[in-house]
Amino acid sequence: QKAEWAKLVDEKSVTRDGHHVELAANIGTPADLEGVRNNGGEGVGLYRTEFLYMGRNELPTEEEQFESYKAVLEGMDGKPVVVRTLDIGGDKELPYLDLPHEMNPFLGFRAIRLCLEEQDLFEVQLRALLRASVYGNLKIMFPMISNLVEFRKAKGILLDVKEQLIQEGVNVSDDIEVGIMVEIPSTAVLADQFAKEVDFFSIGTNDLIQYTMAADRMNERVSYLYQPYNPAILRLIKMVIDASHKEGKWTGMCGEMAGDEIAIPILLGLGLDEFSMSATSILPARTQLKNLSKSDMETLAQEVLTLSTNEEVISTVEKAIKL
Ligand code: PEP
Ligand code: MG
Repeated sequence: QKAEWAKLVDEKSVTRDGHHVELAANIGTPADLEGVRNNGGEGVGLYRTEFLYMGRNELPTEEEQFESYKAVLEGMDGKPVVVRTLDIGGDKELPYLDLPHEMNPFLGFRAIRLCLEEQDLFEVQLRALLRASVYGNLKIMFPMISNLVEFRKAKGILLDVKEQLIQEGVNVSDDIEVGIMVEIPSTAVLADQFAKEVDFFSIGTNDLIQYTMAADRMNERVSYLYQPYNPAILRLIKMVIDASHKEGKWTGMCGEMAGDEIAIPILLGLGLDEFSMSATSILPARTQLKNLSKSDMETLAQEVLTLSTNEEVISTVEKAIKL
């Protein structure tokens, strides 16, 4: 099986009936790029920049960040690279920021909420990103967006930082897409409105599932409620993809679900444009997609959206693709 996968390293990801999707990788550091290349990643769909900030005693400087972003953009050689701005808080702590202990860290002061309040820290990251933008195909993504005001504020700060860099005579790419993670149900529900203002969506199912099912993704006792195939989740995903396409935008997914063999047929059928996963999942996913027909999966997706439970969806998909 490994030999069969290896043959697909330099191939595009195309279904049996000729539909192309992008299979991208999730990375945490520039060192992960080797794995992306070896596994035939067509891009980076999620660069989790929080790792730059973790395991140290102070914030990374603009220069340090610039070097990392440049290395990833150059390393991907013009292929798309979606860089997510700092997503700290929740399960990821930064001791040196000295944030107060919270009762519900997953519902608390994290990610874009923190960046909009600690604007200096956010601006340093945006400066580094914009400076690096001329070295490749950069797309900037804001995490944990829960309403349009947050997106408009974040984008406003980005535009101000860009203007300032231009004033300083720094070269900045003119072609940077700005998108958001859809990982909070309120944002999925209003996706039609977001789609008019963002350039793309990337669905973060790791969090979207926990927030929709009210089941902590770290809590074993309620893990039976953490249901990726619950039709409630699938309908939210469909709303997001449909809303983006209606406005001529694209939707990716960077949660674990994007590389899952039960989820892939459904996501293909729903029209997902980009699947971002751990590098080692890319070749198995490409192999699976080669054997699926998009039009058959559209029919399957329609069917599973009418089901009621996680288990029903699993058994229906297994039957359809003969797992
Ligand atoms: C997600 O929530 O699906 C996601 C990709 O982000 P993280 O796992 O880093 O929270
Ligand atoms: Mg998340």
